[in-house]
Amino acid sequence: MAVLVLGGAGYIGSHMVDRLVNTTDEKVVVVDSLVTGHRAAVNPAAKFYQGDIADQDFMRTVFKENPDVDAVIHFAAYSLVAESMKKPLKYFDNNTAGMVKLLEVMNEVGVKNIVFSSTAATYGIPEKMPIRETDPQKPINPYGESKLMMEKIMHWSDLAYGIKFVALRYFNVAGAKPDGSIGEDHNPETHLLPIVLQVAQGKRDVLKIFGNDYNTPDGTNVRDYVHPYDLADAHILAVKYLREGNESTAFNLGSSTGFSNLQILEAARRVTGKEIPAEMAPRRPGDPDTLIAASDKARNVLGWKPQFDNIDKIIASAWAWHSSHPEGYGDRK
Ligand code: UDP
Repeated sequence: MAVLVLGGAGYIGSHMVDRLVNTTDEKVVVVDSLVTGHRAAVNPAAKFYQGDIADQDFMRTVFKENPDVDAVIHFAAYSLVAESMKKPLKYFDNNTAGMVKLLEVMNEVGVKNIVFSSTAATYGIPEKMPIRETDPQKPINPYGESKLMMEKIMHWSDLAYGIKFVALRYFNVAGAKPDGSIGEDHNPETHLLPIVLQVAQGKRDVLKIFGNDYNTPDGTNVRDYVHPYDLADAHILAVKYLREGNESTAFNLGSSTGFSNLQILEAARRVTGKEIPAEMAPRRPGDPDTLIAASDKARNVLGWKPQFDNIDKIIASAWAWHSSHPEGYGDRK
């Protein structure tokens, strides 16, 4: 059997491809536009196509050349909250309209299973913690809205065309392949852990912690960190779930443990042995106080068992990547 990974050259997608190649017998086909992804991140055992998922003729060719593909894993989307506030149409076009174009072609070629990256950002400001899949989804930024629209489009496409889906709502993804050979390389970098580690490397002078007056134990935001290998394993289980003929649904993916931004800083100092200068800075717009997943549905229904259940282990894996690749993938696009 074969799986098509869209966005397989990105941060999470490249860990997905690596995991599929190393832990399953699947044939792995990858599509990535390389707008934000890196060709060097894609495990060479996968068959690679460069192109845009919204280019329907291109996607028809990919499916035609790989008739054994019966499931799509879809990571190809933009994912920066702050950028989405300034350029909402970029997000609705690439993420939401991109999904419509993709589903049209999937329906045409008869591929009826899709596992798709959704996000905790679809919940907006949660009323209670931990967040359950059945809690209200009221996004507070266009990124979360674009993903919620994708979930809804899939719901109606299931009813009309029988395209079955699993939406995986990720919490905060952090860490890298433990041997340090692939990892996170965004430009510009906006995420907490890579920035903390860039300060540890001396590539940045200081970590700015965005806000210490939140309603949390130490005043800084609390987030739930999950490793990309554990996410990848949940996708593999979700593909199996769909192939077994189960109903479309959504799962939260998080470790169910919260760490404050200050706790992440302390853990990074412990793991790296570096001083990591930090200072308080104003709040960043759109950050809810706390986001922690209830992930028992994924554990019970899919049998998901996250291996990176300890924040030091997650940070050590990220440090293995950053310390061995100070320039990320560099010009090895
Ligand atoms: N954050 C921070 N300084 C930074 C980058 C992020 O204090 O330089 C905080 C951010 O305000 C949030 C947390 O770190 O509370 C996680 O942010 P990130 O952008 O990594 O992920 P998000 O929660 O937006 O998905």
